Amino acid sequence: MIVTTLVLLKPDILQRDLVGRVISRFEEKGLAIIGLKMFRFSKSLVREHYAHVADKPFYAELEAFMTRGPSIAIAVSGAEAVETVRLMIGTTKASSAAPGTIRGDFGLSSQRNIVHASDSAETARAELTRFFEPAELFDYPDLLEDVIYSSQELGPLRTV
Ligand code: ADP
Repeated sequence: MIVTTLVLLKPDILQRDLVGRVISRFEEKGLAIIGLKMFRFSKSLVREHYAHVADKPFYAELEAFMTRGPSIAIAVSGAEAVETVRLMIGTTKASSAAPGTIRGDFGLSSQRNIVHASDSAETARAELTRFFEPAELFDYPDLLEDVIYSSQELGPLRTV
């Protein structure tokens, strides 16, 4: 089933110039980017987004880290996108995340773990609403298919 999930590129990605490489992972996998914005977490937004870890000893450090620079929110759409993206990012503790995953390849620790992704379809719906207005999500047609198969100018590129 085609679903949309939320990915956050945390402040460390911007500081380490990894934005393009991480976004490419989702594009290469064939997932569609249907929304994208840069923003900076306020303390209250961190508390809302990370309410489930607010009582953990690391919370104060997490809040300081998430508010110290801008983040990027991306709405990623595709078949089973919630599960696929969670597999692509890897486990929370980046130092032991599997090589080939985004956290495994670029993350440094549990806190500096590069990305966030929604962990269920229900969470994804709530998190997309947290970061995007409906008009900021785009349901666009497959333009490449139009270019390859229906271009008046080029004619058919493939014959069967
Ligand atoms: P995930 O981001 O993989 O869904 P959690 O929801 O459990 O993981 O944790 C939310 C975020 O809290 C993590 O992405 C990470 O930034 C931070 N965090 C989790 N565990 C730790 C830890 N032991 N030390 C520092 N930060 C942590």
